[in-house]
Amino acid sequence: MTLNVDHLEVEKFAQLAHRWWDPQSEFKPLHAINPLRLNYIDRISPLSGKAVLDVGCGGGILSEAMASRGASVTGIDLSDKSLKVAQLHALETGVTVTYRNIPVEELARELPKSYDIITCMEMLEHVPSPKSIVQACADLLRPNGHIYFSTINRNPKSYLLAIIGAEYLLRLLPRGTHDYEQFIKPSELAKMSRDAGLSAERITGMTYNPITQVYALSVDADVNYIMHCVSA
Ligand code: SAH
Repeated sequence: MTLNVDHLEVEKFAQLAHRWWDPQSEFKPLHAINPLRLNYIDRISPLSGKAVLDVGCGGGILSEAMASRGASVTGIDLSDKSLKVAQLHALETGVTVTYRNIPVEELARELPKSYDIITCMEMLEHVPSPKSIVQACADLLRPNGHIYFSTINRNPKSYLLAIIGAEYLLRLLPRGTHDYEQFIKPSELAKMSRDAGLSAERITGMTYNPITQVYALSVDADVNYIMHCVSA
């Protein structure tokens, strides 16, 4: 079976892996949105005591935060470098997170129906088949579990803000971080979810105000958004 991974994409992040925990680095936007997404998840599906899977966890920015809220977290990624950084940082923080280098599709065969909460954030727009990731996440979910996907919408505004604005004008992200063609409309993600036996409960936007430099959750899902899914 061919792996559902774009090695160039994983390498792009791996090259910056030593900077995952530098809040002023290329990962600054992820640090900035982290409290927002963490509180969002915790409010809808309280994390304490839950078995949580973080798919495409990178350096563990979200994994660690969820573990600090009392969840039992496993973070998976396909970059050894990023996972090593994540592991070291968890040691430093004194938080327990299990990190593994394993494709989510393989984990779904190993541990079906094992997690109460699954997060897959800012990752679907970097893989060849987001549909296959969504299906694997659905298979890993326990009955009555919750899944949170986040990605970038595809329309002229998202091209302007997420690529021209973020990569060229404001330089929030390195050039080439995102590929417009890989962006996913909420309707497309909702269909992938439905096909995987999930139902999309709500869509929440994440906006950035370049003047105040503040990120916020919003009804405006034109660019960045989170989709909350449950079993259908
Ligand atoms: N989810 C984290 C990191 C997002 S960056 C956060 O929001 O803080 C995107 C991550 O997806 C990178 O760490 C990259 O290595 C990972 N990734 C890309 N393709 C992947 C795949 N097929 N399987 C697992 N992880 C993948």
